[in-house]
Amino acid sequence: MPINNSKHHKHLKTFGIVLIVVIIFILSFFRWLFYVSKQNTVNTWKNSVTRVAGDAEYYLIMPVHAIQFTAVQVEKMLDKDMPVETIQDYLVQQSGVYSNIIESNHTGIYGYCKGTYLNGSGWVPDERYAPRERPWYIDAIIANGEVAFVQPYYNFQTKTMMMSVSKMLSDGESVVSMDIFLDGLQAMVEKINGADNIDSVIVMADDGFVVSHSNPAEIGVRYLESKDEYKKSLAKNVLNSDESTFSLNAADKKTMVFSEKINNNWYVIFILDENKLFGSLQFIYLFSAVALLAAIISLLMLFYVFHTKYIEAEELSHDIQAVANIYAAVYRINIKTNHARLLRITGKFDPLMEGGVYDYNGPLPDLIKLFAADQSRDTLINFLDKSTYEERLRESNSLSHEFLDKNERWIRVQLIEVDRDDDGNLLHVMWAFESIDEDRKQRESLKLLAETDAMTGIKNRKGGEARIREAMAEGTKGMFILVDADHFKSVNDDFGHDVGDKVIITIADCLRRTFRDSDIVFRLGGDEFAAFAPTVETEEIGRRIIRRLYDNIEMVDIPEMKGRRITISVGATFYPADRNDSFDAMYQRADKGMYESKKQEGNALSFNRGEL
Ligand code: GH3
Ligand code: MG
Repeated sequence: MPINNSKHHKHLKTFGIVLIVVIIFILSFFRWLFYVSKQNTVNTWKNSVTRVAGDAEYYLIMPVHAIQFTAVQVEKMLDKDMPVETIQDYLVQQSGVYSNIIESNHTGIYGYCKGTYLNGSGWVPDERYAPRERPWYIDAIIANGEVAFVQPYYNFQTKTMMMSVSKMLSDGESVVSMDIFLDGLQAMVEKINGADNIDSVIVMADDGFVVSHSNPAEIGVRYLESKDEYKKSLAKNVLNSDESTFSLNAADKKTMVFSEKINNNWYVIFILDENKLFGSLQFIYLFSAVALLAAIISLLMLFYVFHTKYIEAEELSHDIQAVANIYAAVYRINIKTNHARLLRITGKFDPLMEGGVYDYNGPLPDLIKLFAADQSRDTLINFLDKSTYEERLRESNSLSHEFLDKNERWIRVQLIEVDRDDDGNLLHVMWAFESIDEDRKQRESLKLLAETDAMTGIKNRKGGEARIREAMAEGTKGMFILVDADHFKSVNDDFGHDVGDKVIITIADCLRRTFRDSDIVFRLGGDEFAAFAPTVETEEIGRRIIRRLYDNIEMVDIPEMKGRRITISVGATFYPADRNDSFDAMYQRADKGMYESKKQEGNALSFNRGEL
């Protein structure tokens, strides 16, 4: 059964909208989740770059302190105008002290005082050495009293990165300085790089010079001047942009850069592979979103299918109810338990309900007594007898029977098969009652009309013959007569057709008065009539009846006929004449009798028992 189309489309539309809303919601939700997680990851890395920057600062701060402290002491000694040798001694002593304190290796404190190069580790330069042209001296003068971090340089002897930390003294000419090995910083960088996801860790000076790099080959490279676009823009971004965290595209991948400035204007930089960093995150959320979506879509589809089925079922149930409205009352009978239960009732009428039966569990005859008229009981008990259902329902799955209820109304009951068990035995049937009283009355009056002769009001040939055949079928014996008016044509001719009609009606009246109500009297057509009188089996009684007919006919007085009398001829016979007797044979016998009677003038009667 197709379901209502517009309803179906409405549901489909609602379903589509819900689906789209759900998809949008889930995608937005997971996008948000992904964003939050990404932010989380970014923050974690920011923290870790800050921590490393702290470590780097700490690594560099000790030499700064050492230089600052030494500078103050040397200034005091200069103020007191102590000799250069004393200052040299002091530097030697301080170099010893700091080699114990400072983690990073250093080459001792050296400097330039009173036009002399001093060295705390005892190194004596050759004559060509011009201290005031060295970067450590120049940068200190430029820094003008601040601690200068002199451009690191690669020491080919020690194969390490080195850097000078120097400070100009208050006389504007003297400088103390210390060379420190940056291998501790490098080790730190390389150690960090062992962690997951990190592409490289860099310590970069404020001019783009790579002080430390997780890839040692990169140490000493000037990134700002690099031909590698990536390195160049990395340095540019780190040094010139306010953003400490940014994405940067390399030729083959996307990277995420985290940078943190430390106190000497250097930068600690982490470079991470964005794919490695967020790829798994992205995968997890995408996968979860898709899985959740799939689950929800499946659920929605399941719901939709069930909903559609539900609507179909609902509509089917309405249809069935509409069909069931034909029935005044429907009972469901459990064959095993004999239990009759009222399923539905339309209100107007209910045979069992009027007997007060909603639920019945007793013997069938007692139940039927509650609602069927006495004369209908036996046939109804036979019809509703469950012991014969199996056999009767074998050919078709419904049977019907008509009966009279207690109020003499016609009712049809249908016996309908409902279900069977796995072995094919009947489990339930329905009794569906419907009122056919109106129908039946209409049918009967139509039948009566079709079987009645309009002019005389008695039965016509069809009705009479049918009644006689029914009586014969029930084994009824009796007398059959044919009646024909004599010289009827001349009545018509002499007095007119209307008078002829009157004669026909009069003869019919005479026949009706002569015979009993239970006898069958009918007009064959024209001036011919017939009658069947059950239980009349002897000529003696037959003649008495026909005598009565003659008497009635003789009493007729039709003024228009001016005293002219009506006479009739009668052919009579008995049924059955023998074992094989039939209606047609009986008719023919009576007709022969009629033929005999016609030979005589006036009212005549001929019995033909089959001898003619
Ligand atoms: P018979 O004695 O041999 O029966 O002669 P009859 O003139 O009666 O002949 P028959 O019975 O064969 O004719 C019947 C006539 O009845 C024929 C027809 O003109 C007439 N007739 C038939 N039906 C009607 C009718 O409904 N009204 C009238 N007025 N006359 C009818
Ligand atoms: Mg006649």
